[in-house]
Amino acid sequence: MKELTLSRELSNRISELYEDMEENYDQVAKELNFSCHECKDNCCDSYFLHHTYVEWAYLWEGIRSLPDKVVTRIMERVETYITESEKMLVRGERPNLMCPLNENGLCVLYSHRLMICRLHGVPASFKRPDDHKISFPGCFRCQDLVKFQKDTPYNGSEMDRTNFFRSMVELEVDFLGSRRINAPKVKLTLAQMLALGPPHLP
Ligand code: SF4
Ligand code: SF4
Repeated sequence: MKELTLSRELSNRISELYEDMEENYDQVAKELNFSCHECKDNCCDSYFLHHTYVEWAYLWEGIRSLPDKVVTRIMERVETYITESEKMLVRGERPNLMCPLNENGLCVLYSHRLMICRLHGVPASFKRPDDHKISFPGCFRCQDLVKFQKDTPYNGSEMDRTNFFRSMVELEVDFLGSRRINAPKVKLTLAQMLALGPPHLP
């Protein structure tokens, strides 16, 4: 098995894509006059699965830039996260455990946080290749703010995720090249991506 590492070019591309997401998110949040300031919740305990090797490798690029003692603390939390989340899943519960990268309410690897961390919050949509539109109402606090009502079309500001998802797929294709055909599908929590180490393929 060989470790998948990002070229400088791909590393820059994913970083730029993340920045674009962040800018777009901030723009929509500004239009809605929405922010996470003083929110009593912390979305870093949401259970998310991630699906690309390219984000996995970039996450590890970030981990390797951290001091050893920080990484040691993260890995201790990873172990706890995995043990506890497995127990919750067996009980049929959706885990609501704090992300192992979160220390005292803050992300210790903010620059390398994953795509979903940059998209969650404001209302959003994306168009599937068959043109069907999928909508996301935003977090519960934003839903309150925009007075979101199920079964009533939302016409306010929202993030269009279509191009972001497309760019991420392009990055994944460029990253894996011909290895993509036989690469197992990624469906991992961030904690699992850390426990497994950086991505490897034959
Ligand atoms: S995204 Fe929403 S729920 Fe999450 S911290 Fe921000 S305001 Fe709170
Ligand atoms: S990666 Fe950072 S921002 Fe994302 S859930 Fe973990 S601590 Fe929160």
